[in-house]
Amino acid sequence: MITQPYSGALVAFATMHGKERLARQPFLDILGADVVAPPDLDTDQFGTFSGEIARTLSPRAAARTKARLGMQLSGTPYGLSSEGSFNSGLGFLVEHQEVLTFIDETRGLDLVVGSITPSPLPPGRSITSMDEALPYATAVGYPEQGLLIRGGAAGEEVRKNLDTYDVLSDALGELLRLSGGGPVTIAPDYRAHRCPSRAEVIATLAQTMARRLTMTCPLCHAPGFGQVTIERGLRCADCGQPTHVIAADISGCGLCPHTVRIPRPAQHASPRWCDFCNP
Ligand SMILES: [Zn+2]
Ligand SMILES: [Zn+2]
Repeated sequence: MITQPYSGALVAFATMHGKERLARQPFLDILGADVVAPPDLDTDQFGTFSGEIARTLSPRAAARTKARLGMQLSGTPYGLSSEGSFNSGLGFLVEHQEVLTFIDETRGLDLVVGSITPSPLPPGRSITSMDEALPYATAVGYPEQGLLIRGGAAGEEVRKNLDTYDVLSDALGELLRLSGGGPVTIAPDYRAHRCPSRAEVIATLAQTMARRLTMTCPLCHAPGFGQVTIERGLRCADCGQPTHVIAADISGCGLCPHTVRIPRPAQHASPRWCDFCNP
């Protein structure tokens, strides 16, 4: 069943980096809800990408805590919040994980959608001159994509909001001096208003969440019924043993324990994924 339970609702997106603009259109078009940013919110207290304040909560817990603070400041029972993490495992690929939380205090709902995508941005790099900074800046798409630089004796000095090449050059000169000639680390600024590729991911998740909020639970009729997990174990076409291949998607309710299993179209897995036939 499709409904519009949030028509006319005020939703607070806990952000000081313009994320409310990324959710405003889908929440208005799909739900008829208005998304705003709370006044005087300091989300840096939950940790920063640049590391001046360490992140102590898990991404989901941090998103939940931020959303609740935003709801309090805006005086509304509906809140949104997102939390991103960027991890470079082996070398050149950076994995971007983003979670978006929606809280509805009137119904006791706490929903999460998330994505894991390769970031198009290269990992940070050590440099010792402006000449080395320029190719990196070009590669990440500066100035639309922001940069931050880190230096000093223990890497404790961070400079961001480097909006022009002049500002970047000055800040780099300063950190190279403070670091005794270097090296200084230059890296993408992942804050949503300085990172177009991350902003795009958040906008997509906001759209996913808005659509999900139109779906109600077949059992208790709470809004937000949608995919909660997957089920692996599709059976091998040759020997019939379960494999790690996904067998079904599981939709669930944010309020009651009701779930629906939606099998994937494939009936059997190829023996190449089978631990018994192809160990
Ligand atoms: Zn339910
Ligand atoms: Zn097999």
